[in-house]
Amino acid sequence: MANKIKVTFLGTGSSIPTENRNHVSVHLKYKEQDLLFDCGEGTQRQFRKAKLNPMKVNRIFISHWHGDHTLGLPGLLQTMAMSGYNGTLEIHGPNGTKKKVKDIIENHMGYYLMMSKEDGYSFKIEAHEHKSGPVFENNDFTVNCFKLNHPMPTIGYTFELKDKVRIDKSKLNKLKLPNGPLLGHLIAGKDITVNGKKIKAKDITYTEPGKKISYALDTGYTKDLSKEVKDSELLIIESTYSSEEEAMANKRGHLTGKLAGKIAKEAKVKTLALVHLSQRYDRISKVIKDEAKEVFDGKVIAAKDFDTIEL
Ligand SMILES: [Zn+2]
Ligand SMILES: [Zn+2]
Repeated sequence: MANKIKVTFLGTGSSIPTENRNHVSVHLKYKEQDLLFDCGEGTQRQFRKAKLNPMKVNRIFISHWHGDHTLGLPGLLQTMAMSGYNGTLEIHGPNGTKKKVKDIIENHMGYYLMMSKEDGYSFKIEAHEHKSGPVFENNDFTVNCFKLNHPMPTIGYTFELKDKVRIDKSKLNKLKLPNGPLLGHLIAGKDITVNGKKIKAKDITYTEPGKKISYALDTGYTKDLSKEVKDSELLIIESTYSSEEEAMANKRGHLTGKLAGKIAKEAKVKTLALVHLSQRYDRISKVIKDEAKEVFDGKVIAAKDFDTIEL
């Protein structure tokens, strides 16, 4: 059984949080990797409500340093230090991230890091700055980033699960092949010989295609955007305004429901998740969702706090 990617929307609001929508943050879990995209105010409490453990977070990806995406970091990091986080937390973000993280450590973390050290833990925080291109890679997936159109350095991210070569179990059983290193050869694409009989890797293996999830906020419309998020299984994108406020959206570097739908259509994504809704749409998110659906045929959700998607 293949491992699933689980996405949890911890916050789906815009610059002013509402009763129903926290500042923005999205949690993505794949195997033992817990990744966090943005960390608006109150994110650590959203972890508790979602029954997720902040101590498991390996990496945080910041889109940009507007407060609604980052005000939750000092609190989250303090809690991690106090709770005995033992290891290195990697924080990725656009230009300026190293200085911002240094400021948080200097202004908020001193006492908590000292306590953590006294208790025998080693909590390190490392900051990385990116413009576009590769951010992180392991055996299972890659994370890349791309430039967005917003009034300060801002980047979006793609999480791409790699294609996996798997053994067809029913064919394996028929051949009565033992489990063991020989299977590793087949997965690596090498033919093997068992009891004088040649077994071709291509006859017994199949490729499970990877999956792409894209995270694009905050941003105004650009032609390049759909290229970056092309063929995503899930596109998480901002949709701050409705078309009535398109002029304001353009001026402030934000999207409308209609423009988000246009990008989803151009990029041929499967599911479109709209987040970062202005407080005025808190209870009428349908307005934004319907705009997107008018231009995009795929599945559209106006994500709510604590919604989850498994892929
Ligand atoms: Zn912003
Ligand atoms: Zn924002």
